[in-house]
Amino acid sequence: MKPDARAVAIERMQILIESAVRNARSDPALAKRHAGLARKISSRHKIRMPYHLRMVFCKKCKSFMAPGTGSRFRLGGTPKSVRITCNLCGHTYRKMLTLRSKVSQTVQK
Ligand SMILES: [Zn+2]
Repeated sequence: MKPDARAVAIERMQILIESAVRNARSDPALAKRHAGLARKISSRHKIRMPYHLRMVFCKKCKSFMAPGTGSRFRLGGTPKSVRITCNLCGHTYRKMLTLRSKVSQTVQK
């Protein structure tokens, strides 16, 4: 694949995920559709989503979980971590926090 096509695919995934997160509250159906399209692009072009995009999908049931609506974020524990729980299947996974990690930046937004 041409490097250009790869960049375009990643850009499109980014736009779709951003739109999905934005619409998660007002239009969950649209958000789900956009998230699904992003996943489709990722699998069709065999491009791994960048971590900050991947984290809106449940690791277990692969459904879209919008921060705050489709999932629960809990901070705490030692070592410091974010615990993300999927509202659909109840799966929890922990993301360890290191200084300046991508997660801490995302959560602060
Ligand atoms: Zn799940």
